[in-house]
Amino acid sequence: MADGQLFTLAPRVAQLRRSPTAAISDRIRELTEKGRTVVNLGEGELDFDTPAHIKDAAHRAIERGETKYTSVAGTRELKQAILRKFEQENGISYRTTEVIAGPGAKSLILNALLATVSEGDEVIVPAPYWVSYPDMVALAGGTPRIVPCSEHAGWKLSAESLVEAITPHTKWLILNSPNNPTGATYSAADLKKLADVLLKHPHVLVLSDDIYEHILYDCPFATLVQVEPRLRERTLVVNGVSKAYSMTGWRLGFAAGPQKLVDALEVLQSQSTSNPSSISQAAAAHALEAGTDFMDQWRDVLRIRRDVVVSTLSQTPGLRVAAPEGAFYAFINCAGLLGAVRHDGLLIESDFEVTNYLLDEAGVGVVHGAAFGASPYFRVAYAIETDVLRRACDAIQAACIRLVSSQPTRRSDTGAQAKIG
Ligand code: PLP
Repeated sequence: MADGQLFTLAPRVAQLRRSPTAAISDRIRELTEKGRTVVNLGEGELDFDTPAHIKDAAHRAIERGETKYTSVAGTRELKQAILRKFEQENGISYRTTEVIAGPGAKSLILNALLATVSEGDEVIVPAPYWVSYPDMVALAGGTPRIVPCSEHAGWKLSAESLVEAITPHTKWLILNSPNNPTGATYSAADLKKLADVLLKHPHVLVLSDDIYEHILYDCPFATLVQVEPRLRERTLVVNGVSKAYSMTGWRLGFAAGPQKLVDALEVLQSQSTSNPSSISQAAAAHALEAGTDFMDQWRDVLRIRRDVVVSTLSQTPGLRVAAPEGAFYAFINCAGLLGAVRHDGLLIESDFEVTNYLLDEAGVGVVHGAAFGASPYFRVAYAIETDVLRRACDAIQAACIRLVSSQPTRRSDTGAQAKIG
């Protein structure tokens, strides 16, 4: 062992990237500590408070003494609430043994991969993707097979690309709709086309990450098993209360799927985290039972914010953006800024450098597209107070105008695809 090195890390950890969203938050904290005012448009959570009726349910659980271990896969009350949710909102019937609650959707996704993926297995991950999928696949010993989806195709995986990506080694397809980071949302017709391909490849499991189900503006939500019930026996539907109910800190997710897989998730959970917090379970059970009426108001607010982002940034030189259909993210093409030289002489050659420029010059933190497997783009998370968001978008616009107008000539020779100005 090298001098001064007390221990080495296992290769499985050494290969992991630190979450880029956490990294941007750290940079923002650093700048804030130096006295800079920085707006963070990098965080993937709603700014709304968890509704009072849900918090009250948690208090009541504490008063009742529900502060002990529960069944590993979740309390009977929570499981019943999850079953009813799937039945009423998605038209899918599951048995109690086919559902499991865990400490966040994230841990259930990782456990699903750990439970099924072996060396040599491939997992199809359409890009742009949620930052964690490829690292989780690698952690499970598999190979992420990244399938690029184009901006022009609305960022959605096509049936043709799916056919091309499937090999005898394919273990899973991961679908995420509405999508983080693009907001792209698969309609029932989109899913049917993918389902037709999947029906011809019975060895492929599907992980349907529906965590943004309720954050949809203009179209109804559809999920694969609802569209094609014949895929029920090899689809794991993952969902949770983090995004829909603004409960990210409560760490409560759930999954439903074939019993063999759910049993394996339970075994893994029993040897790792055990049950999710008993108090969060009581709160989530109440949240799922009490209805989603308040979300209409949240959606109205989010729609206004989405429109602020789209209307300001689509009129910004060097940027291009279309209105996302769901989630609370916009994925912005910044090809028109590549090749520009900052006033401090630095050349902007990548979306990461665009995000550094925006942090330095606009005081706004956003996440570069490369972190989500697509460049040159950046993601704006717009679930923050509307006035702050408006000022942040104006600051981005002003910084882009300054950058573009200070360039000596058009940089058509830089390889940048989009126009400037
Ligand atoms: N799936 C997607 C696509 C996400 O964006 C996130 C969180 O950002 C999660 C899953 C994790 O959700 P949870 O907070 O329930 O772990």
